Amino acid sequence: MSTIDGLPPLRAVIAAHGLSAKKALGQNFLLDLNLTAKIARSAGDLTGADVLEIGPGPGGLTRGLLAEGARHVLAVEKDARCMAPLAEIAAAWPGRLEVVNADALEIDPLARLTPPIKVVANLPYNVGTELLVRWLTPPDWPPFWQSLTLMFQREVAERITAQPGGKAYGRLAILAQWRCEARIVMRLPPEAFTPPPKVASAVVQLTALPAPRFPADPGVLERVVAAAFNQRRKMLRASLKGLAPDIEDRLRMAGIAPTDRAEQLSIEAFCALARVLAS
Ligand code: SAM
Repeated sequence: MSTIDGLPPLRAVIAAHGLSAKKALGQNFLLDLNLTAKIARSAGDLTGADVLEIGPGPGGLTRGLLAEGARHVLAVEKDARCMAPLAEIAAAWPGRLEVVNADALEIDPLARLTPPIKVVANLPYNVGTELLVRWLTPPDWPPFWQSLTLMFQREVAERITAQPGGKAYGRLAILAQWRCEARIVMRLPPEAFTPPPKVASAVVQLTALPAPRFPADPGVLERVVAAAFNQRRKMLRASLKGLAPDIEDRLRMAGIAPTDRAEQLSIEAFCALARVLAS
């Protein structure tokens, strides 16, 4: 059977290298190269960009990224069994793919990448959320990356892109949307993966804005948002009382009713409150 890049189909790669999926590594593989090319396309124009891919596994998405023209792909994979199949892909695309056998939570791959940098990953969800929060809270803004294209459990994708007023709206939505354009670009049923996970998935595309939408100190904003949503059912005058003894006055100064609840507040209102609390 021929493929987009002349390499063997992924089922044959998995069989040849004995890559039985390991649950502990969250291995749910994408085997349809048309689908992985589509995910790669959802990251925008890759020509002229370096791509950081986390968790390439047998390389389905990696092959999509290379076929879509990525200038250079740096792929970080924890499972040593995947090194041989990934080396075959590197040989088919000379000089374009570099593979690192490491835990993405432990290494800093930045020195190996040249801007503009796009991050693309289909990762286990716990690792994905931890990395997302790190990528969204760098020491300086704009961050090292231009965009993040990440597969999540659908429920997490909905939390990242949620608007005020619903249950899904919380810390992740504010962290993501304060300084990024965030949207769901693709929804995938469990059967898209081998083996299928229990829940549906979605790809989220986050594009870094040159500056935050509204001014605020990131540390203060993070503390306000964490306190407000830790007790999301309470009125803000109660959930935030640990932040300032005169919290009711401060809320009013920021134009917020002390009886409002966290999920009613826009990002703009949270930023206004962070500014009042920092003054
Ligand atoms: N990208 C491949 C695909 O789409 O078919 C594999 C996706 S699979 C959901 C997740 C991959 O992330 C696995 O290959 C797994 O070994 C790898 N992985 C899990 N934890 C990791 C970590 N901490 N650092 C790097 N890779 C990790």
